[in-house]
Formats: sequence, C-alpha cells, structure tokens
Amino acid sequence: MAVLECPGCQYRYDEAQGDAHEGYPPGTLFESLPEEFTCPDCGVRYKEEFQKLVSD
Ligand SMILES: [Zn+2]
Repeated sequence: MAVLECPGCQYRYDEAQGDAHEGYPPGTLFESLPEEFTCPDCGVRYKEEFQKLVSD
C-alpha cells in the first residue's frame, strides 16, 4: 500500500484507507483510480504528478 501526495496541495491519497468522501473504498490502489481522477482539494488533474511517499 502506498500514500500519494498531490503536488499542488497537502492532499494525500492513502491506498489503505481509500477516500470515502470521493467514493473509493479502503484498499483501492491509486493506479486503479479512474484516469479522470483529480485532486479533490485543488483539482490537479494528472495522476502521474502525484508523488509516491511510501510503499511496502
Ligand atoms: Zn491537490
């Protein structure tokens, strides 16, 4: 499970927790998010710009 941080704000997507507010259940891998995924806080559009912080 990895945590990915938005390059534009402090939003972090934690794969282990998902994002219930956005409709992604716990365990949803970042790579499994739809291509149209955008940062819910600032609207950064490109998944590849998110920085992977931890992975194990
Ligand atoms: Zn953001």
